[in-house]
Amino acid sequence: MTQKLYLDHSYETVFEGAIVSVQPAPAPNTTSVVLDRTLFYPESGGQLSDYGEMGGAKVIDVQETGGDVVTHTVVGDAPAHGNVRGTIDWPRRFDHMQQHTGQHVLSRAFIKTDGLDTVSFHMGDETCTIDLEGQLPDAAAIRRAEDLSNQIIAENRPIDIVTIPIEQVDMSELRRKVPDGVRDARIVTVRDFDRIPCCGTHVRSTGELGMIKVLKTEKVKNLQRVHFKVGVRAYDDYRDKHAVLQELSQRLTTAPLDVAAKVERMLEESQASAKQTKTLIQRLASLEAERLLAAADAAAVRIIVHREADSALARALATEMQKVPGTVAIIGADDGAVVCVSSHELGIDLATGAGALARELGGSGGGKGGFAQAKVDPARVGEFMERMAANVRARR
Ligand SMILES: [Zn+2]
Repeated sequence: MTQKLYLDHSYETVFEGAIVSVQPAPAPNTTSVVLDRTLFYPESGGQLSDYGEMGGAKVIDVQETGGDVVTHTVVGDAPAHGNVRGTIDWPRRFDHMQQHTGQHVLSRAFIKTDGLDTVSFHMGDETCTIDLEGQLPDAAAIRRAEDLSNQIIAENRPIDIVTIPIEQVDMSELRRKVPDGVRDARIVTVRDFDRIPCCGTHVRSTGELGMIKVLKTEKVKNLQRVHFKVGVRAYDDYRDKHAVLQELSQRLTTAPLDVAAKVERMLEESQASAKQTKTLIQRLASLEAERLLAAADAAAVRIIVHREADSALARALATEMQKVPGTVAIIGADDGAVVCVSSHELGIDLATGAGALARELGGSGGGKGGFAQAKVDPARVGEFMERMAANVRARR
């Protein structure tokens, strides 16, 4: 059994322990080390493990294995016996203390404001989540829980931790039951606010949490998942998002809080403009089709070869041409797109030839019967159009 120093000394970062066992770990070039005592918190109860150094080797994972034994995974070799000095990565530990204690406060806040119970907690490297029972909290409910949480932080309430025999625990005030089989329960209390049995690491008073911010909610099966950040994570998040908003605000020349409304207007304008462009292309295509047909030879089948700058106009123009009996049209665009059509009553297959020719020129293409589309290198559009036209003439 490993003596768990982190339970009573969560603010200490350096310790010495005697080596109990050293064995190769499953991952290449790693070693499992067990000491008689440790400050390293093992991953459990939703909280991630501590990292740090042990005898100069990097500690990359800490797990609690059968019967209260804490096993450290270190990179490389570790001394086989004697005493070893361990140092935990303090910024990581304190971050976990903030996230974990913040979770206690937020979970109690959701109970007090909306009667929503937390059934599980997960700490990630980026964000933390709690899963709530009951209905999905809406924006107002989230705000109520955030407001209460941040009020508890501002009041800088002490966080008391006691380990007492199970018989002495007042069960009525606990947010969660003490697990079966526990004889001495470690009770964590946010004074006059929340009490719960917990073996994680916690800050001394709520003021050290800085702030709690909910980021988003989502439904996961029949539970409501709440993503949140506490302390330095919340501050970093605010700073990063503020920088983005500041940049958008400058680019859009509008106040930061008006950015959303401005973007909404811009999207509406852009949609209206796209619609207008489509209408104009259609009108232009009709006019251009008329002009090209008037200029074409009055043969039984006219073959019109024409190039436009814009591919949307080229497509619209080809579609117009296909409606006119006795017409084959090959319309290219500057971006390498080419549309080939033959009017319906002619029944000329263009798709097979267009596909083969496009591939021969290093592009792609296909279609069905009298309608084919190809995409070739823009420099070869002219060549493609001429050869397609020659193919059609040769077949007549
Ligand atoms: Zn806890």
